[in-house]
Amino acid sequence: MRLNVSQLLKEPIGSVRHYQVNEVVDVAGDGNSRLVQGEVRLTRTDRSILVEGTVHTEVEVTCSRCLSPFSCPVTLHFKEEYFPTVDVVTGASLTVPDEPGWFTIDEQHILDLSEAMRQYALIAIPMKPLCREDCAGLCPQCGRNLNQEQCDCLSQPVDPRWLELTKLVNEQKGTE
Ligand SMILES: [Zn+2]
Ligand SMILES: [Zn+2]
Repeated sequence: MRLNVSQLLKEPIGSVRHYQVNEVVDVAGDGNSRLVQGEVRLTRTDRSILVEGTVHTEVEVTCSRCLSPFSCPVTLHFKEEYFPTVDVVTGASLTVPDEPGWFTIDEQHILDLSEAMRQYALIAIPMKPLCREDCAGLCPQCGRNLNQEQCDCLSQPVDPRWLELTKLVNEQKGTE
């Protein structure tokens, strides 16, 4: 995910490079390396290099219903500006703009996509991930994962005090 852009920095404004991304990286920074595939387009602007692209990968998440970890496919569409920190011809230091939300190209003219990808991957994680559309979740009474095994709780008469509690727990789950 590290691209040397020294040539592109020397080219006129509007020059474009396309790169295929096909790497196994720990995109979300959570210790799980995943294949990242896609394409990025780098455009030389008057002040920076604009990176636009789409990549597909997976992130490790926890099912909001049954609490099992699983791999969730995500597509990241990104568009970010990368500012050079040194002049590619003279080697002089450059000042980067005084505004938030940009990245820098290091002194060796390496444009590193990792941090941007990490940020986009975090945003792409669904709020309530489900391991599968019809995940059965956990039994509110015995806590068993109902995707793996059935329990007898529902067929047994329930103590009315527990029923109230279960209702409360389920209501809370619904509002999370
Ligand atoms: Zn689940
Ligand atoms: Zn049960």
